[in-house]
Amino acid sequence: MTLWEHYHLPRSVDEALSSLAAYDGRACVVAGGTDLLLELQQGRKPPVAALVDVTRVSEMTQIAETDGTIYVGAAVTHTHIVASPLLAARATCLVESCGVVGGPQVRNVGTLGGNVAHALPAGDGTISLVALEAEAEIAVSGRRSAVSREWRPVLSLFKGPGKSALDRSRELIVRFRFKGAGSGEGSAFKRMMRPQGVALPIMGMAVWLKVSGGVVDEARIALGPAGPTPMRATKAETYLSDIPLVDDVLPQLADLVLQDAQLRTSPHRATADYRAELIPVLLERALKLAHRRAATGEAVPEGLGM
Ligand SMILES: Cc1cc2nc3c(=O)[nH]c(=O)nc-3n(C[C@H](O)[C@H](O)[C@H](O)COP(=O)(O)OP(=O)(O)OC[C@H]3O[C@@H](n4cnc5c(N)ncnc54)[C@H](O)[C@@H]3O)c2cc1C
Repeated sequence: MTLWEHYHLPRSVDEALSSLAAYDGRACVVAGGTDLLLELQQGRKPPVAALVDVTRVSEMTQIAETDGTIYVGAAVTHTHIVASPLLAARATCLVESCGVVGGPQVRNVGTLGGNVAHALPAGDGTISLVALEAEAEIAVSGRRSAVSREWRPVLSLFKGPGKSALDRSRELIVRFRFKGAGSGEGSAFKRMMRPQGVALPIMGMAVWLKVSGGVVDEARIALGPAGPTPMRATKAETYLSDIPLVDDVLPQLADLVLQDAQLRTSPHRATADYRAELIPVLLERALKLAHRRAATGEAVPEGLGM
């Protein structure tokens, strides 16, 4: 059985959207194909009339910085992110999370946009984008082919496990933007996984901190899977604001993260109880590393996959 009938390789966002619109919901965007092609092959998604490959759209494959804001194209691969000195220095958690996705073959073709659009709460790159308070630029084809663009918070793109809020027949993610780390700011990503032929993430956590004079001015803690969508641990973030990060506050912070989390047991990965045990461990590791980076300005990504 053929899984798709036509394959399009547009060179611009407008061209990609007009190819999508031509099939009236029977076409799919494809980037690395590491999620989509398996779904088609395994029958979790019905065959489609066409695939619209966005990896030749040059504005979707760039990493750039303008006035302190960093832009990462949706079709940028995990390997490209890991190799970026700009992202290592200014968005360290994103490099660390993309650096542990699958193995080298998956990272060479899998993209950040695909990680977000696939809408799993455990998407590693996604969790770091949430901690960075990233926004996604969505291109939308309207009536008579007019294309409009708008920025939406990354978190608003998730409706449930595997359910994206994107209208797949007429919308695509062009790129992401977030503020690069400045003075007194740092981030880190830590993950536990079950190496079982393929890496099955059990829990990932990204932390972004702004510190001054030994006190945490602002904290962002993102984690998953800890609910139907990637999430922010807002109670712990609020508690940590305006206090120093010392060992004594860690148990209380972990309790607050657990209050926000909705942990579940998954047959192939871990029980909810085990995940609850991991939260204090990941939190301490990610917080201390992000704090050190924020305080010293030194940011060398750790734990990148082989
Ligand atoms: C062996 C293996 C190991 C893996 N390990 C991990 C892991 O450790 N951590 C992890 O997070 N993920 C993992 N994944 C999942 C996957 O590799 C990532 O989610 C990857 O980032 C998906 O990107 P892609 O470009 O391949 O997406 P694709 O498969 O091309 O697309 C995925 C979905 O997103 C849509 N889409 C893609 N790009 C866009 C866009 N720009 N706009 C709108 N919609 C779009 C597609 O239509 C499709 O529905 C693994 C996959 C495999 C096969």
